[in-house]
Amino acid sequence: MSGQDDFAGRTAVVTGAGSGIGRAMAELLLARGARVVGVDLRADTVPPGCLPEAVDVSDPEAVQALGERVTSAVGRVDVLMNNAGIGSTTDILSCSPQEWDNVFAVNVRSVLLMTQAFLPGMLERGDGSIVNTASVLALIGAKDRAAYSASKGAVVALTRQIAIQYAGTGVRCNCICPGTVDSPWVGRLLDQADDPVAARAALVARQPIGRLGTADEVARAALYLASEEAAFITGSSLVIDGGYQAG
Ligand code: NAD
Repeated sequence: MSGQDDFAGRTAVVTGAGSGIGRAMAELLLARGARVVGVDLRADTVPPGCLPEAVDVSDPEAVQALGERVTSAVGRVDVLMNNAGIGSTTDILSCSPQEWDNVFAVNVRSVLLMTQAFLPGMLERGDGSIVNTASVLALIGAKDRAAYSASKGAVVALTRQIAIQYAGTGVRCNCICPGTVDSPWVGRLLDQADDPVAARAALVARQPIGRLGTADEVARAALYLASEEAAFITGSSLVIDGGYQAG
């Protein structure tokens, strides 16, 4: 049952908890009874009620220290939401090696580092759920998203690999593939457009459902995967895109 307190007694770590989808994940987990460690570049951006942690999730030493701090402060971690990510809007000809590496460091290496920090505790207890934020662009092509699409494809593949490696241990690993979500990220992209109103209309027009998604809708799907209701689901990529991929 996805009741009001179905995460009571559980501890979750959410990365990118200061904005958009991650913030919605953290708020929903808090509302449903979880203790939440909210990780972001700035601790003051995460929702009130979280244990705030200012960490760059692409930094190996910082993430290792985070793992040690969190384990001694809260003990067990039941749910890990690897959600922090950055965009990149270049095509394959204009993407510099530095941009490629930076996108992969934040979007993919962070999943490796955070999982290395929190998976051992889950394996010890034989219980845990990891939910990674990929993107529908891992599954379909889009112009000007070379590094971004490749990084999210890597998140889908890594999700499957983790799921298979630890299937049967009590630890599940899934990912979500959101379409266009009305988060501060998309707001920033639209602000850069020559005509932001027309650019927003174009984004909405490609949605079969006729609107952009909300961060809360994506968070609800992520919490489903993390919950006991999804006990038989591991290695899956849940598309949450208003029909964009199907169209
Ligand atoms: P957002 O920019 O609103 O929030 C991302 C958060 O991650 C920010 O608070 C940022 O400070 C944090 N962050 C970035 N780099 C970090 C780092 N190195 N260490 C710690 N925190 C860091 O973006 P959003 O739209 O909420 O996106 C969240 C996730 O969803 C991303 O992985 C993104 O790729 C994915 N996604 C978003 C959309 C969309 O349309 N918004 C669609 C598909 C996938």
